[in-house]
Amino acid sequence: MQLQRKLLSYERKLEKLKESKERSIKHLKQRILKKDQKLKRSSMKSLRNSLWKITSKIVRHTEKYCFTCLPKDKKLLPWKLRIAGHFFDKHEFPGMKWEMLNVHTQCEKCNRRRHSFGARYSCQLIRKYGYEAILKLEDLALYRKSIKFKYSREELENHIQDRSEMLKKIEDGQTV
Ligand SMILES: [Zn+2]
Repeated sequence: MQLQRKLLSYERKLEKLKESKERSIKHLKQRILKKDQKLKRSSMKSLRNSLWKITSKIVRHTEKYCFTCLPKDKKLLPWKLRIAGHFFDKHEFPGMKWEMLNVHTQCEKCNRRRHSFGARYSCQLIRKYGYEAILKLEDLALYRKSIKFKYSREELENHIQDRSEMLKKIEDGQTV
């Protein structure tokens, strides 16, 4: 009789242990899943940041003068004073942030105090690339805004690879 009771008590203990083990496994799985999701999110963010850093460097290396300054103010900008400024605003048109044609070197005055100097920016873009190319850029900006465009991981990685190679060539003094 005593033995039976003991056995029963052991079985209950074992059952409780099993339940608690299952609970902790479930908890651990949830924690791993959350960490995984966080890691994926942050790595997409870091990919976007990397692409921006590379794009901005390419622009500032290749354009040493402010794109929008008036002719009388044009002067060579030291590296530290070059800002990679957007034509289509990166907040209103986030899909255009990394588009090379949409980014040019600007001085602090044009980029900040003149709020990118849009009127002059348009004229300069038309001068450099032609009217049609700028209208196409606008089409792209509006389309991407309408579909809330976002680069996929693969697109980001491909752009990073291509532009890193481009940047390396520029930094090594080769023409691209
Ligand atoms: Zn300027």
